[in-house]
Amino acid sequence: MFVLKFGGTSVATSENLKKVRNIVSEQSESQKVVVVVSALGGITNQLQECALLASEGKESYKEVLQSIEKRHIELCNELLSVKERNNTLTRTKLLLNDLEDIYRGVFLIRELSPRSLDHILSYGEVLSAAIISDYFRSTGLDTLLLDSKNFIKTDNRFGKATVDAKTTYTKIQKEFESAAQISVCPGFVASSKNDGLITTLGRGGSDYTAALIAAALEAKEIQIWTDVSGMMTSDPRLVPNAHPIEHLSYEEAMELSHFGAKVIYPPTIQPVLDADIPVHIKNTFQSDNPGTLISKDGPENGQVVKGTSCIQEIALCTLTGSGMIAVPNISYRLFGSLSRQEVNVIMITQASSEHSITVGIALDDIDKARQAISEEFSYEIETHKINPLEVETGLSIIALVGSRMKKQVGVSAKLFDTLSHNGVNIRAIAQGSTELNITVVIDKKDLKKSLNSIHESFFLSDRRKLHLFMIGVGNVGQVFIEQVKAQQEYLAKKHNLDVYIAGLANSRQMYFHEEGIDLENWQDLMENNHQKMDTEKFVEKMKDLNLRNSVCIDSTASEDIAKLYKDVLESSISIVTPNKIACSSSFNNFKELTDSAIKYKSKFLYETNVGAGLPVISTLNDLIKSGDEVHKIQAVLSGTLNFIFNNYDGTQKFSEVVQAAKEAGFTEPDPRIDLSGVDVMRKILILARVSGYKLELDDIVNNGFVPEECMNTDSLDEFYTKLDEHDEVFKEIYKKADKQNKRLKYVATFVDGKSQTGLEAFEADHPFYNLGGKDNIVLFHTNRYSDQPLVVKGAGAGAAVTASGIFADIMKIASA
Ligand code: ADP
Ligand code: ASP
Ligand code: MG
Repeated sequence: MFVLKFGGTSVATSENLKKVRNIVSEQSESQKVVVVVSALGGITNQLQECALLASEGKESYKEVLQSIEKRHIELCNELLSVKERNNTLTRTKLLLNDLEDIYRGVFLIRELSPRSLDHILSYGEVLSAAIISDYFRSTGLDTLLLDSKNFIKTDNRFGKATVDAKTTYTKIQKEFESAAQISVCPGFVASSKNDGLITTLGRGGSDYTAALIAAALEAKEIQIWTDVSGMMTSDPRLVPNAHPIEHLSYEEAMELSHFGAKVIYPPTIQPVLDADIPVHIKNTFQSDNPGTLISKDGPENGQVVKGTSCIQEIALCTLTGSGMIAVPNISYRLFGSLSRQEVNVIMITQASSEHSITVGIALDDIDKARQAISEEFSYEIETHKINPLEVETGLSIIALVGSRMKKQVGVSAKLFDTLSHNGVNIRAIAQGSTELNITVVIDKKDLKKSLNSIHESFFLSDRRKLHLFMIGVGNVGQVFIEQVKAQQEYLAKKHNLDVYIAGLANSRQMYFHEEGIDLENWQDLMENNHQKMDTEKFVEKMKDLNLRNSVCIDSTASEDIAKLYKDVLESSISIVTPNKIACSSSFNNFKELTDSAIKYKSKFLYETNVGAGLPVISTLNDLIKSGDEVHKIQAVLSGTLNFIFNNYDGTQKFSEVVQAAKEAGFTEPDPRIDLSGVDVMRKILILARVSGYKLELDDIVNNGFVPEECMNTDSLDEFYTKLDEHDEVFKEIYKKADKQNKRLKYVATFVDGKSQTGLEAFEADHPFYNLGGKDNIVLFHTNRYSDQPLVVKGAGAGAAVTASGIFADIMKIASA
């Protein structure tokens, strides 16, 4: 004997029922089968909604009832030929008439007791079972309809009755003594042992009906046919990458369902575990998929963590008080009071000092729990031995389940590490003494992010998803987007890394797409989206989306955006930026940002602040981290100024060379920042700070070469005009150097805590002399590199190299 249970989606339509019929027909060829069916998908909810409306005196209940009637009648018509459908239609209509009378009663009396509701809800399964058994028979299958209410016997706890196993098993054995090849039974419904009133086994309870029948009849196997291919590694509605688990032990399945894996109703496992009957979870719509096998022993090898599940809404109730140690039997009284009120405790944590006990309960049970606990401890609360009960809501619970966890160290460390890297605060932790599960309570708003990042860490080995948010789509930003587009496939294939741009903004517009912006036409999408850019709103949106592994790329030169870094980093969103404003602002601000990144486990990476894509900052960081000390840095750090002086030979106007550099994309948006030397000052300041020195911009002596009058201009045009007026100055500087066979370089020096910048002329034997194009060069003189400096040299400006530098920082975050 096999027991097959088909859920709501499987029996929802005539098309689906044809698939069900084929499965049943195939299985019943070699043995007798019992088919347990749910109500048509969505009907139980509708029956309940209709009852509520009627009890509130709302006429609209009739519309809901009509749609319930229509679905069942249509199903009869679709499944059965005209000749065969008469009896079925008559029976269905009689049942629906009864239902209509009951609803009218509820409407008139305006009262809906749990007992009446159970009576009403039972119609869902009673109707579906009747139609399905007639359909099977009409297609030539040897089928008999049985009424589960006659043999599943319970107490009188309407809504979720407790089964009397002994009576139920005896009755089932009797009922099935001379069973047909196929018996069809409604799931979910039962009746009370003492007075025969209709009860139900709780929402999702059809699985349990099947398990009870299987256990009583010592069935060889029970199959739960549903709309997914087994028990998945996580809730597939929240984690798109979840995949079916091949094999689970009964205990593991019980834990996963207890903590919210809806595919199996929690009480289902107990009867089959006692009788050692394997449970197969299968997909009605992909019947060839292996599904999940639940049996006595899971495999000895395989995954340590089998799956994760979650309950989206829970409440934490905490009892505290210094007097708790002195009060006897606290836990006994606490759990006793909750159990008398039928409050199901989902998790428990107790501080080892015994000053507090916290229990996690379903949101619906809050009032009952509050009352039960407050009454039980009223004396202690009045006498201030115990504080009034604290109740926290807006929380979710996540459980990690696997029987091999107890043999493996480091599972909780990995779990906590994953959550903290994503800025998720853990509110409570519990680990069962069997070490079959670890549970954490978190804010509900972090649930999706947490589940997905946990899933990535435990089940997808190295696969990671990065969500990028880009502010600034000028020269550098555009090239970067092109690079992402070109690399996406390669990164996914070779590095198991899915890189998405989830948000984009320029100074006017912003655009978000959680699933990743289509990079083929991002410009149109952004422009046509009509969402005005507002930096604060951009940050808020990043925070609201709350996506795991989020990185904000600031490729602007804006101070407004730099001001928001702290907020971003404290939201555990990493920052990658070529924008130098933040790192060259006050030392305290710079320090605050680097500290925030450490505290909130975000990354603050700014390699492209100095030398574009050249590994200047990472080289320096590596030296410092490994204990080296920097004494002197000598560097040409302005690709712009280098380009200008490599191209200027006194024959053309100085302003023309400046404009050519700007057009080629080698300058800051405002070239005065380059020419004034401020840009170089900022860079050497950043290098000094990374070297461990507390320096401010004002501490740097800048020996500028551009006359003040040129710098104090209101527009770029005016600036160029003023440069022309002072063209002689530049010619002089050039000629003087040229006469001595020297070349001009704008140099930044940092020696033993002091720094200066300015134009210097170098002879042919100096490493700076041959520095071509827009290249940069940095010489680090350190303890380790005392004879010969460590040299980093190469292209130090330009959109392509800067974008590559940003990419490199992002790859560092991906592999962290
Ligand atoms: P049925 O009506 O067949 O009983 P349910 O809706 O009760 O089906 O349960 C199946 C649903 O459970 C799936 O469609 C899926 O969305 C949800 N679910 C939640 N967690 C899990 C999980 N870990 N594995 C599989 N399904 C899950
Ligand atoms: N029809 C009931 C429900 O929706 C029972 C079940 O489907 O298992 O909860
Ligand atoms: Mg179900």
